[in-house]
Amino acid sequence: MKLQCPSCKSRNVTTVWTKHTFQYGAVNLVNLMANVPVRRCKCCGEAWLDHISEIIMERVIKDFEVQYPKYPNQQHTSYQDVI
Ligand SMILES: [Zn+2]
Repeated sequence: MKLQCPSCKSRNVTTVWTKHTFQYGAVNLVNLMANVPVRRCKCCGEAWLDHISEIIMERVIKDFEVQYPKYPNQQHTSYQDVI
């Protein structure tokens, strides 16, 4: 499977693994971090995340839920209290 730039359709695309921070939670937002592959086009400079990153971030969220099962169901508990 060859990667293709969504902007210029070039197939000259590199992958750079980058630490990506994203927020999760309904009430008390928590910052989670995932190591995701950022795709970068060598022709036009476009950078984007694809479905692989979504899968990785879903996995990070699942791990978080397993680690902190009380979060975020207890809406009045702060993130610090959960830990
Ligand atoms: Zn491009």
